[in-house]
Amino acid sequence: MHEFGLGEEVVKTVLEEMKRLTPPPRNLRSVRVVVGALRRVSSEHLRFAYEVLTRDTPAEGAALEVTTVPVTALCRDCGWQGEIDEMLFLCQDCGAANLQTLQGMELFLDRLEVEYSDASDSE
Ligand SMILES: [Zn+2]
Repeated sequence: MHEFGLGEEVVKTVLEEMKRLTPPPRNLRSVRVVVGALRRVSSEHLRFAYEVLTRDTPAEGAALEVTTVPVTALCRDCGWQGEIDEMLFLCQDCGAANLQTLQGMELFLDRLEVEYSDASDSE
């Protein structure tokens, strides 16, 4: 389950980001990570890893949103460009395997939503 290693990275980055904010936020509401489909990450496993790894940290209890980016590629043979099946890796137009990957390897922290007080500014 490589999601655990990934979860560790995410949690580390989240905690660093939280420390950098002034004033320090009281609470973390949600975290959004963007993951390319080629990373083959199960968002369910990642959420579970996040939950376990943030126990007793300021990032505990935040909702983890995982946005998956589909794989897109450019065909070097016919110039077709678009979304492909990451398991097949073939041009959807001419069937060639001569593809250049354009998207699908992403892996980054997209957004942190923090809370500064108990005030009910709940949106
Ligand atoms: Zn093609």
